[in-house]
Amino acid sequence: MYQGIGASPGIVIGEVRVADRTKVVVVETSIAADEIAGEIERFFAALHRAKEDLLDLKDQISRTQGTEHLYVIDTHLMILDDTMLTSETVSLIEQEMINAEAALNRTLKKFKGFFAGIEDEYLRERGSDVETVVERVLRNMLGKRHELLCEAEGRVVIVAHDLSPADILQFDKEKVIGFVTDLGGKTSHTAIVSRSLEIPAVVGLEKITGEVVDGDSIIVDGAKGLVIIDPDQETFRDYLQYKQYYEYREKEFLKLRDLPAETLDGQRMLLKGNVEFIEEVPSIKKHGGEGIGLYRTEMLFLGRTAIPDEEEQFRTYAEIARQMAPYPVTIRTLDVGGDKFVPELNLDDELNPALGLRAIRLSLRCPELFKTQLRAILRASAFGTVKVFFPMISGVAEIRSAKALLEEAREELRAAAIPFDVNMEIGIMIETPSAVIIADLLAREVDFFSVGTNDLIQYSLAIDRTNEHLSELYEPLHPAVLRSLKIVADAAHSAGIYVSICGEMAGEPNYLPILLGLGFDELSMNAVSIPKVKKILRRCSRVEAEEMAQQSLSFATAAEVEAYLQGQIVTKFSDSID
Ligand code: PEP
Ligand code: MG
Repeated sequence: MYQGIGASPGIVIGEVRVADRTKVVVVETSIAADEIAGEIERFFAALHRAKEDLLDLKDQISRTQGTEHLYVIDTHLMILDDTMLTSETVSLIEQEMINAEAALNRTLKKFKGFFAGIEDEYLRERGSDVETVVERVLRNMLGKRHELLCEAEGRVVIVAHDLSPADILQFDKEKVIGFVTDLGGKTSHTAIVSRSLEIPAVVGLEKITGEVVDGDSIIVDGAKGLVIIDPDQETFRDYLQYKQYYEYREKEFLKLRDLPAETLDGQRMLLKGNVEFIEEVPSIKKHGGEGIGLYRTEMLFLGRTAIPDEEEQFRTYAEIARQMAPYPVTIRTLDVGGDKFVPELNLDDELNPALGLRAIRLSLRCPELFKTQLRAILRASAFGTVKVFFPMISGVAEIRSAKALLEEAREELRAAAIPFDVNMEIGIMIETPSAVIIADLLAREVDFFSVGTNDLIQYSLAIDRTNEHLSELYEPLHPAVLRSLKIVADAAHSAGIYVSICGEMAGEPNYLPILLGLGFDELSMNAVSIPKVKKILRRCSRVEAEEMAQQSLSFATAAEVEAYLQGQIVTKFSDSID
């Protein structure tokens, strides 16, 4: 049994098929001056072939999988077109007088060193895209064929040292039922694509390729990150049963997709999805999300060599709005700083980053950066229903400054005759205790509130949300948190605006009755939680939820609230929870 990182949930039982993704071996040889031109030509020919192969692959994928994931191939095509990659290789051939493979390999090493130095995990893993592309060119030069994984026979689990997102897109889902790799992390594009295509996967197993041969039996538990090779009969039987139960349960949940998110007595509640990447949008739709309640745009900015310009931001935001239409997309402006680091902004190290120059504070300090994002968001609002909201607001002045810059962005677009939605709603996140206390004042300034409970709990209880040693003290049901939620919901409704929760609390089915009873209009969560929360919602009545919220507010400790809630859930909804 091997423990790795669960990249995509689901259980599969099948046969191992080891994919040859071993590195090509490159030998460096010196060349004579009159061989230089020939080597350069060979290099460009291999590049050209790699490009043609990728275009063929793109064509094949668009026929079999649709166009949703083609950006992966486009990324690879862009890497092939990268002038740095080519000019560096050509100058190495010319100046060092070495063979083309070796020159390209040296260039790759340089790129890899650059990516390895990136702090952000997501962007660090983009380095593997460059590696995959270079590998393809090297194979062409060495006359090795890039093995096509779509040619797998039977129902197999691919075991490989590493797989690229393009490999995953090639899979014939009838034949390839899952994959496991030595390398990889949860936020790699490979993991993201496998989640959105719902191919169970475990990555980061370190040495799994050395432990298996073709034909071995394999069980992959993508939720737990477990892989079992050649299971004994008992384990096999248990997993077969567990798999049936798991799949039955998932199917049952998905049946709720098109049923209204409403209580027994007809109270509607909007259940939306949180996304970090555009690739997650299909999954939100599949799970019945009625929009995106939180799009964390900072993922577009983290750890890159250059900050995304207005065009790139606009294209991404507009594409999400288009894919989600007619449902709304709520775009949060940049929430960097703190533990999310953007080197290009040259921020000083801070002693208390969580209390430092982050989120809206940073945006207001860098008005041009902020306005670029606001213009991109406004422009995207012409392509669907787009709302904007600001993170970590602690006072009215911040909202007014943000709105003034938004107005400037609007003026600039008007002057350039660029269309946007003049009625785009503006909201704020409630994440600080000060925002809770003056929620009535803040409510007069905006169209909606969204409570970021992850930070609100951190700041209210003074518990660092990233500190694993304090995790027991991080209590969502702490009376201070519940009272804060009530203050915020009441203030919003008194001012006639709506109020949502987009922190992790929103996706916890057991908390639904309290959040409903406190009067929240919307909850936004990860895709798979949507049907689970909906199930409880549809079993609840508003009156009952209000009673439960009332009762919950009467306890002195989180443990008492928890015990009360458990009792209620078991008696009222025992058959609804997994
Ligand atoms: C939150 O703080 O609850 C939230 C949704 O924002 P993030 O987790 O991105 O800080
Ligand atoms: Mg937050």
